[in-house]
Amino acid sequence: MAESAGDIKYLPGVGPKRAELLKKEFDIATPEDLIRIYPFRYIDRTGFQRIADLRPDLAYVQILGQVVSATLLGPSGAVVDPTPPIKFQAVKRLSVMVTDGSGTLEVVFFKGIRWNWQHLRPGERFVFFGKPSVFNDRINLVHPEVDAPQAAGTMGQGTLTGVYPSSEALKNGGITGKVMCKLQAAALEACLPTLVDPLPDYVLHDKGLVPLAFALRNIHFPKSADALQKAIRRLKFEELFLLQLSLLKQKYIRSRADNGLPMPKVGAEFNACYDALPYSLTGAQKRVIKEIRTDLTGGRQMNRLLQGDVGSGKTMVAVLSCLLAADNGYQSCIMAPTEVLARQHYANICRYLAPTKVRCALLTGSSTQRERREIHAGLQDGSIGIIVGTHALLEDNVLFQRLGLAVIDEQHRFGVDQRARLWDKGPGAPPHVLVMTATPIPRTLAMTLYGDLDVSVIDEMPPGRKPVQTLLITPSRKAALYKFMREEIARGRQVFVVYPLIFESEKTDLKNLEQGYEEIVNAFPLPDYKVAIVHGQQTSEQKEFNMAAFVAGRAQILVSTTVIEVGVDVPNASVMVIESAQRFGLSQLHQLRGRVGRGAEKSYCVLVRDYKTSREALQRLELMCRTEDGFEIAEEDMKMRGPGDLEGTQQSGLPVRLGIASLARDGILLSEAREYAEQVLATDPTLSHPLNTPLTRELRKGRYEVHDYSKIS
Ligand code: ADP
Ligand code: MG
Repeated sequence: MAESAGDIKYLPGVGPKRAELLKKEFDIATPEDLIRIYPFRYIDRTGFQRIADLRPDLAYVQILGQVVSATLLGPSGAVVDPTPPIKFQAVKRLSVMVTDGSGTLEVVFFKGIRWNWQHLRPGERFVFFGKPSVFNDRINLVHPEVDAPQAAGTMGQGTLTGVYPSSEALKNGGITGKVMCKLQAAALEACLPTLVDPLPDYVLHDKGLVPLAFALRNIHFPKSADALQKAIRRLKFEELFLLQLSLLKQKYIRSRADNGLPMPKVGAEFNACYDALPYSLTGAQKRVIKEIRTDLTGGRQMNRLLQGDVGSGKTMVAVLSCLLAADNGYQSCIMAPTEVLARQHYANICRYLAPTKVRCALLTGSSTQRERREIHAGLQDGSIGIIVGTHALLEDNVLFQRLGLAVIDEQHRFGVDQRARLWDKGPGAPPHVLVMTATPIPRTLAMTLYGDLDVSVIDEMPPGRKPVQTLLITPSRKAALYKFMREEIARGRQVFVVYPLIFESEKTDLKNLEQGYEEIVNAFPLPDYKVAIVHGQQTSEQKEFNMAAFVAGRAQILVSTTVIEVGVDVPNASVMVIESAQRFGLSQLHQLRGRVGRGAEKSYCVLVRDYKTSREALQRLELMCRTEDGFEIAEEDMKMRGPGDLEGTQQSGLPVRLGIASLARDGILLSEAREYAEQVLATDPTLSHPLNTPLTRELRKGRYEVHDYSKIS
């Protein structure tokens, strides 16, 4: 097929303008892309409701009615003279009264007034399809779809009509639900004859799945409820199976290479540190260290994700792992996402290393030339055993004599590509890699997302951590909140105040943050109080400076956006205030709350919600007040996570875009797909058997590659 023939703009009903819109909104370039945009629900359009039976809580209704009257209304509601020439510029609204014998209903248009005025002539019958709403105590339909009576029910050949993801831009560009259905029908007609099923016949047979053509026809235009179910199952399985294949293939390739640096010994340095520990390791820490040891001695390169809630003691595990490397003559690096965090790690790690002979150094963006020269030399002659640092560690001139282990803290700030860059720093073979994250991803999901990594979980907190008391308030309680903050500060404690900063509305968010900062500064004036502020628009020097002031205790209050989400440890901070808390996701709230309660003091998290808070948001906040268990919160988060910015798209927070399956809701099918993918790879690890060609071809398109873990929040 010629390249241009596959262009969506040549599909009947599209054209260059709509093509551009489809590209922009959905990244659709070809009819084949289009047919992979599925309805996210279906409407039964077989029957008609009676106007007398309409209730505002009905989702969608279909009325067969006769136009009684049509009235043009101006801005103040005054009737506009309908004798031609009509001044349409003065018309704000078209009100059409419709009857079906059981009652009358108002149908309202704010757009497309001229067209509807000309078509909806009194006496004629139409089918109106839309969502009932209430205005002035009366039910009306605003902007319903209007069809000639004979068109009803013929849209889909069957009984159910798909509702597609949409957006303001699409609707304004004329791609309404109805138009979308027509485009899908045209696209199916264009594609189906030459479409190749990415699932080989043996897969369809093994798993009892319907072929792609059947699935696509029925996902868009279901012949019956049963056919629709079969289509959904098949398409979900396809996605989950291909995703698993893609992830597991990488893992298979890695695990077959026997290039792991051998670290068989537990030696003097490990034992010196271990024996001097001021506490005993938790059961979970011990288990994870054992898992890591098994990796290090197994002859294969380790790629392990270590998950553990904030404060679960991941640093200790990292240090002991580095010492295992040291005992076997290898160097390690520990990479942190920010300078403050790197410094903090460095300080802690130096303490743990005191009983050992291992030399540790810190390399960040603000290391001086002289320090750098010394560090570069120490890394190359092997005298530095552990290097802690920021991205500065990735620079080309940082080279090691024998890099054996790379620890990456707070993985979600590093891309997979950066992880790969560390591989080139060693003496040939890639170092073992340990990635640590505090983002509590449900275990099954972690297995799936990090399919190319092995996963360890620290699911136990060190003893003695005090629970954080969580309160939910509205701004009406601000005065009481400030009083409480003053009391805590008077006891020598520190306070975080966090504002949301969400990408799209950055400007207004920044204004809110600045206003909030002023309000706090006014309520907590100098010289008694010092307030530091950190936000995304500052230079990294400004950020580091303010953060450092708070960490060192020179400022009692830190006002910030979510930049503090990652890792800083200020044991003296006892209060976390989160403004407009309803705008944060659950895992974010959990991460933020984890910043307090690290010291010996009783700590508090105060969620300040706006008066206008949706019911779902309120549920999230109430869950936060109820539990501190990161995994429980993560599970709930997965279940509650609503649509993204496009109606009907799910899980915008995930690093792969799935069209129909949900990693949260399709858990059973997911494990089935994973098992089956393992089975397929066990007999054909490189998928080079001719039967598997359709699979390789589909995978090569790149849709199922997970590149960017930073999207997990
Ligand atoms: P994470 O990095 O997982 O958030 P850290 O490694 O910073 O957690 O540990 C949090 C705190 O708990 C530190 O002050 C650390 O010294 C302490 N800690 C770690 N392991 C234990 C343990 N087994 N028993 C008591 N305290 C511990
Ligand atoms: Mg940490």
